[in-house]
Amino acid sequence: MSKDLYQILKVNSTASPSEIKRAYRALAREHHPDANPDNPEADERFKEIASAYEILSDPERRARYDQYGETGISSGHSDPFGDFSDIFSSFFGGQNSSPSGPRVEYGEDLEVDLEIGFEEAVFGTEREINIRTAVSCEPCGSTGATAGTTAIECARCNGLGQIQEMRRSILGQMLTQTICPECKGSGSRILDPCKDCNGEGRKVTEILLPIEIQQGVDQGNTLRLSGRGATGKRGAPAGDLYVHLRVSSHSVLERRGYDLIHRLHIPMSQAVLGADLDYETLDSKEVLAMQPGTQSGHIFKFRGKGVPHLNTRNRGDYIVEVVVDIPTDLTTDQEEILRKYASEREEEVSPKRKRVRSRRR
Ligand SMILES: [Zn+2]
Ligand SMILES: [Zn+2]
Repeated sequence: MSKDLYQILKVNSTASPSEIKRAYRALAREHHPDANPDNPEADERFKEIASAYEILSDPERRARYDQYGETGISSGHSDPFGDFSDIFSSFFGGQNSSPSGPRVEYGEDLEVDLEIGFEEAVFGTEREINIRTAVSCEPCGSTGATAGTTAIECARCNGLGQIQEMRRSILGQMLTQTICPECKGSGSRILDPCKDCNGEGRKVTEILLPIEIQQGVDQGNTLRLSGRGATGKRGAPAGDLYVHLRVSSHSVLERRGYDLIHRLHIPMSQAVLGADLDYETLDSKEVLAMQPGTQSGHIFKFRGKGVPHLNTRNRGDYIVEVVVDIPTDLTTDQEEILRKYASEREEEVSPKRKRVRSRRR
């Protein structure tokens, strides 16, 4: 089959995707073997049309064909559904967007829960997670066929993975497509299944998967790792892996979006008299210049020292909110000093209660 694919579909090489589709539909209807039971060549011609459409309907394959001709995609084979879908899998990641080709069944998506530390969520981390998944079967090279044998084209659908039927309706003849029940849409059959994987081309096992967690993630976030789920059957592309994150809480810090909040307790004397306090955020050293007369609720804000944003270079703020502690454990001497202080300021306070308590005992 060295005919020009555009000639086969009777379109010119600049035809739009919808023109190609229209041309294919018309030709497929005309040359469908069921519609031409007396013409032995119809079957060949129909396959030729389907093959041409298989390539020209896929933008990537069409571009490759335009650039390299058929050698660029088929290495001399005339069967587009056998070898060169494999070649394309390796070039383009296995996406099968063609509506008429064998069906590609992706591997299963997987879900895992992962608990990470507070600071790991803020700055990102690398982890290895243990998952039960399906991986390629090595003995058969994920083909599912015993080494040295190959799958054969499904006779029922001629490797198309789909069956086209001509139905008569009041609107005339209609071409309908269904998935081939014989090969379940794969287009091929394995006569000698690999013993290691029972012909699936993959095996279920536990693996340690390294994953990278980016900075700025938060409790309840789900990471979607494309193509890290279970490997598909017989070399089909893998599904996705969803990682649901739980973030452990911090002993003193609270997170609000990208801001970090620390309610810092200071003694009354520091609030009254002031103090310069050395202070460390998660990744910087600061000084809290506590002025004399600092009140509870006073806020120190360190801009850009909070949580890095997920996809930008920005960071939230780091906020220190002052809480003035009232002492509850005064010694007798300290109490005397405070009573003197109160009487000097003519502030009314409760009388000493210590003697009352000791008399009761
Ligand atoms: Zn089939
Ligand atoms: Zn195998």
